[in-house]
Amino acid sequence: MADLRTVDPEIFDAIQQETHRETDKLELIASENFTSEAVREAVGSVMTNKYAEGYPFRRRKDGTINWEANGRYYGGCEHVNVAERLAIARAKELFGAEHANVQPHSGSQANMAVYFALLDVNDTYFGLELSHGGHLTHGHPISFSGMFYNVIHYGVDQKTEVIDYDALAEMALEHKPKLIVTGASAYPRTLDFARFREIADSVGAYLMVDMAHIAGIIAAGLHPSPVPHADVVTTTTHKTLRGPRGGMILMKDKVAAAIDKTVFPGIQGGPLMHVIAGKAVCFREALQPDFKAYQKKILENAQYMADAFKTLGYRLVSDGTDTHLMLVDLREKGVTGKAAENGLENAGITVNKNTIPFDPQKPFIASGIRVGTPALTTRGMGKDEIEKVVGLMDKALSDIENEQVLNEVKAEVGELCATFPLVVGEDRPV
Ligand SMILES: *Cc1c(COP(=O)(O)O)cnc(C)c1O
Repeated sequence: MADLRTVDPEIFDAIQQETHRETDKLELIASENFTSEAVREAVGSVMTNKYAEGYPFRRRKDGTINWEANGRYYGGCEHVNVAERLAIARAKELFGAEHANVQPHSGSQANMAVYFALLDVNDTYFGLELSHGGHLTHGHPISFSGMFYNVIHYGVDQKTEVIDYDALAEMALEHKPKLIVTGASAYPRTLDFARFREIADSVGAYLMVDMAHIAGIIAAGLHPSPVPHADVVTTTTHKTLRGPRGGMILMKDKVAAAIDKTVFPGIQGGPLMHVIAGKAVCFREALQPDFKAYQKKILENAQYMADAFKTLGYRLVSDGTDTHLMLVDLREKGVTGKAAENGLENAGITVNKNTIPFDPQKPFIASGIRVGTPALTTRGMGKDEIEKVVGLMDKALSDIENEQVLNEVKAEVGELCATFPLVVGEDRPV
């Protein structure tokens, strides 16, 4: 870092400013977290220099893996191979998976690899509607995932705002999808993976679960695991799992060869070996007992947060949460998601606007905000602080265009942040 200051002061300064932003503001974006120094050390390492197209193993004719054989297209891979083999072994141990591919550059690439491996162009698949909590890569027309396939979206029941499994089962019988995709970015309730499997089996469909948001909770055994039920499980490694930004695919052996081949050479070139090293560190951290304690606190804090919002008269989508996140419907407050996001930002509280199911507003405006507890929990915050944060949000939301109120909130946010410092490392004193 000291070197960067002289070589490129502009980038050095931007990183310093980002450090201050992360330290001095309250991070409530449900998909964000703070990695450990160890993860960042691996990601910032010399492994970024290495080309390692291929895999640290070869497949035999019968599909089984030969770990002794060299599956790389470049020399000098002996050390990055150690990192990738550890990442694969730890991922399999953490989630009880038959096989893992740790090379996807992101969650979106992981999903792309699965579609390209399991589907042909124009095949039919099901995904959860974006405005009901799904992700762009679950078949939205502006995403690759919606461009090449006949995607049919399922959703939540209008009254309960929980996935309507009966309607999904009927839709499956009618449309006979080749693949059913579930998993979500903004769905606060437990997903019934056994029921999804049953519905997929009723029409002979593959089941893919995208557990990006809840991977950490699943790793800790605090949300039912999709791994026994799904043919393929995709994830990111940077959300509740608290690792480096990246993707991963867990899978049954029967689809493993096809999916590995689609990641490379199908859609990617050289893997990001420094990030794979960071993923290995993240999985090791997630295998420790204190990771389970951390995930438990995320869930407890989410309950405190939901209760605090409800006590103050806010409506939550589905009336609460089983996970780390919740959707706050702001219509009764007369505030749009966009106005809330902007106002809270000025008050030092970072959230994202989010559509709610059957939202009358366009996504760019939105009727709600999505908030989550993983990042605040990493800072060590608990019940008292969570209640304080919701009180501050309420103060801001009740007068969202009043600069003085927002400044008052910001001052209190600053005090709270100072009491719960985010230690980002000796090389980046804050
Ligand atoms: C975050 C997320 C992704 C995408 O991950 P990127 O790394 O941003 O591409 C995919 N699916 C779900 C459900 C997500 O929440």
